[in-house]
Amino acid sequence: MSRGERKIVAIDLDNVLADTLGLWCELVQIRFKKTITKEMIPDPRLRGLRIGIRRPHLLRILREVWTHWERLPLVDKDAPLVIDHLRKRGYKVIILSSRSPEDRIYVEKWLKHNRIVVDELKFLGFSTQKKDHKEVDILIDDDAREIEEFVRMGKVGILYTQPWNKQISVRATYRVSSFQEIEEILDKLI
Ligand SMILES: [Mg+2]
Repeated sequence: MSRGERKIVAIDLDNVLADTLGLWCELVQIRFKKTITKEMIPDPRLRGLRIGIRRPHLLRILREVWTHWERLPLVDKDAPLVIDHLRKRGYKVIILSSRSPEDRIYVEKWLKHNRIVVDELKFLGFSTQKKDHKEVDILIDDDAREIEEFVRMGKVGILYTQPWNKQISVRATYRVSSFQEIEEILDKLI
């Protein structure tokens, strides 16, 4: 799978490591007086959300959330420790995000605050697909489309359960709801 070096695990940032859609729901409530919960979100990129607000407005708030980095909780409090274990086991762990490089300053503060140490932090921008990162061996993401494309290339995909992917089944893919489960899977793959 890898090219004789450490296997590379890419972890998605939003809603795998950091719970950003929770704060997004709060901001939508404040700005638009619309009550929305994560369970109502059909897609992590906010497609198909019929709440009477145009998607560009919703995406603008999604871009804003990292400026409030100190209000973003971990999705799983075990994530920092599991990432540390994976690196000690020999994996190269990178964060692969569809966010813009402008968010780096906030994300770095958040990672430090949460004691998360990774080998690399990559910001791809909204329109790049993660499957195009050929060096990555294993992808952990809550976006079923990203995982599907990645697995189609014969690589290992781990879908992190969130309300918007619960109904989707992606073939030849692991599904997890915690970082402990990620560790159990990756312990067997190395
Ligand atoms: Mg995500």
